[in-house]
Amino acid sequence: EGRITEGGIAIEHLDFEYLPGRRVLHGLDLRIEPGSFHGIVGHTGSGKSTLLSLLLRFYVAPPGSIRIDGAPLDTIGEDHFRDRVGLVPQDPFLLAASARENIAMGRKLTDAQVEAAARAAHAHDFIVGLERGYDTPLGEGGARLSVGQKQLIAIARALAGEPRILLLDEATSHIDSETEQVVQRALTALRGKVTVVAIAHRLSTIRDADRIVVLNHGRIAELGTHSEL
Ligand code: ATP
Ligand code: MG
Repeated sequence: EGRITEGGIAIEHLDFEYLPGRRVLHGLDLRIEPGSFHGIVGHTGSGKSTLLSLLLRFYVAPPGSIRIDGAPLDTIGEDHFRDRVGLVPQDPFLLAASARENIAMGRKLTDAQVEAAARAAHAHDFIVGLERGYDTPLGEGGARLSVGQKQLIAIARALAGEPRILLLDEATSHIDSETEQVVQRALTALRGKVTVVAIAHRLSTIRDADRIVVLNHGRIAELGTHSEL
């Protein structure tokens, strides 16, 4: 059984189609080093979410086309996979519960573990600024938080599980430049600690990524740093 230890991802000749004859990814080749920060950009329909969905095993990639730490994706046990691969969705689901409970999500975590995850996600400062800190109710669906703050809570929630890989789908709506910067700084600070693959809708969110992957009609059109592109 495959294990995820470092969080390195190797994608080789990855083809994918949802429907027969309608290929949406064409022979993708991409090597993602452990602890690196990769951004994925591309116009709508270019295949960004599809790639993330395949990494998450929501759909089945062709055998051997995706490996993590050398192990074919389908050989990794489900419990281990869920522990090691964290997802920050576009519109994170928040419980009508405290900030602490939203980070712990039913796991038995000490206050120190919750706080460490929040600090790593750059969520600590805004949480302690709430009137009851970590005990502040976040409201139904996190209604009282900005989209960026919800994503920071979701990053903290994912990091609390000590993943080796963190996949993020940047929120599209109502992102002001301040919250965008907050998410950008949080992701950049994770470099060397966890492998980050982030879909971005604005280049600025992933300005500091080690590499930016530009998808175009299911192919890698460009690959490089922000200054190279
Ligand atoms: P966006 O920026 O709009 O989120 P994206 O880059 O994430 O776009 P994908 O959602 O990966 O693009 O879609 C890639 C292609 O696959 C598109 O042509 C889309 O219509 C198609 N597609 C996506 N999901 C499905 C599905 N569940 N069934 C069939 N086709 C799909
Ligand atoms: Mg998408």
